[in-house]
Amino acid sequence: MQDKLYINGEWVTPDLGQTFPVFDPASEAQVHAAPAGSEEDINHAVSAARQAFEGSWRQTTGKDRAALLSAMADELEHRLEELARLEVLDNGKPLPEAVWDIEDTVGVFRYYAELAVGLDDQRTTEVALPDPRFRSVVRREPVGVAGHIIPWNFPLLMAAWKVAPAIAAGATMVLKPSELTPLTALELGKVADAVELPPGVLNIVTGLGKTAGAPLSQHPGVDKIAFTGSVPTGAGIMSACSRSIKNVSLELGGKSAFIIYDDADIDAAVEWILFGIFWNQGEVCSATSRLIIHEAIADRVHDRLKEEARKITIGHGMDEGVLLGPLVSVGQYEKVLNYIEHGKRSGLSLLTGGQRPEHLEKGYFLEPTIFTDVPETSSLWQEEIFGPVLCTRTFRDEREAIRLANNTPYGLAAAVMSQDPERCTRTANALRAGIVWVNCSQPTFTEAPWGGMGHSGIGRELGQWGLNNYLETKQITEYT
Ligand code: NAD
Repeated sequence: MQDKLYINGEWVTPDLGQTFPVFDPASEAQVHAAPAGSEEDINHAVSAARQAFEGSWRQTTGKDRAALLSAMADELEHRLEELARLEVLDNGKPLPEAVWDIEDTVGVFRYYAELAVGLDDQRTTEVALPDPRFRSVVRREPVGVAGHIIPWNFPLLMAAWKVAPAIAAGATMVLKPSELTPLTALELGKVADAVELPPGVLNIVTGLGKTAGAPLSQHPGVDKIAFTGSVPTGAGIMSACSRSIKNVSLELGGKSAFIIYDDADIDAAVEWILFGIFWNQGEVCSATSRLIIHEAIADRVHDRLKEEARKITIGHGMDEGVLLGPLVSVGQYEKVLNYIEHGKRSGLSLLTGGQRPEHLEKGYFLEPTIFTDVPETSSLWQEEIFGPVLCTRTFRDEREAIRLANNTPYGLAAAVMSQDPERCTRTANALRAGIVWVNCSQPTFTEAPWGGMGHSGIGRELGQWGLNNYLETKQITEYT
């Protein structure tokens, strides 16, 4: 495990010589003292990124950068098992899910390698003008120095969603991982070393939000901030970015709805509902945490949910067959438990779960929990809990279902289930969300745009949209 920051292609001791503890959420034991970067380290990293950007990196072709991205993908793939184990130690998630994350991470680097090659052809395009005396071309240029601030729920994958397209575009960057899960992001520095990424292109400064994240978002030498995290932090970052008019993209929280119509295949629905809320311990921004069921099938769906939720194996992420690991930290555990206690105190109907599993004495474990008939006014219905807690309500007709789903300031994702394709299309079109899943929940493809409306954020990641985040558009118009 790394105990130094990665700046300008070198491993350096943090300026103040400080560290912060990293815990294994399954055992509650401290497993590492990670380097705590501060404002001076951020200044150092930003100037390294600026120097790299203004130097030879700017002259590289998409093909050159594609070769580096492919080499990074190979190196990550080579270290897949080791990185997945580190992710379990840091985040708590079950090993097979950590393996998916690293496989996806590899896929993201490969995908942006392909897009980087394509950039060479698309860099300049002609614009059709109505006046023949003028000729106009549009150039796509890298944005400059990017600051990446990321959360803890998919630690390395969230880094990849930003780092890979930024490299493809020809930007340089400073990555600030979450203080709860810094281990795999630091390994990305080793990957950069192994493939000889030019110094300063990727800098990694671990540390706390206030002492490392804030100076990064406020730094006048940063051209773009790409942030993934909570709404309050995102709002603060947006305001910090406004002072130097930085380009900013925000991937924030969600309270996504899952509508089940009366003609849905109930067995399939139950599988997707459980996956949609209990996968990754419910610590998923797009978790379908509000279930909206047609009243005619509500009892059947609830019975099946109760039966299946109780079969979910809870335990240490490294143990065979475990589907639900611990929550990431004591803070997150207490936050989710407070919501559950509030639900119980306010008389909500608890279908299943609601406490820590008896067989696990240590670790931040919670049972899969389902509350039914939750009022729209309840904080459990309105707020992002970010844990294994599902809330359900019933509806009578399509209009009511859509109204309930859209009655939230968030707008990240939504799901709809019915065997009537027209009803699915009508509903999908009416939902106010950046991502709508039909007859499924949560599948995510590197090729397709990801991001939310309303309080869920600004901009899109992944696909061509992810690359656009790191490209500026310049027109050059000539009088001929
Ligand atoms: P968070 O907002 O607490 O922290 C996110 C990052 O911001 C961390 O690296 C943190 O150190 C940093 N930070 C904290 N204060 C800061 C400040 N003042 N200035 C700059 N940086 C600061 O979020 P979290 O608890 O790590 O993550 C959970 C949240 O992330 C949830 O709301 C979840 O929905 C969201 N999320 C969204 C997506 C998406 O794609 N939309 C994906 C994953 C997670």
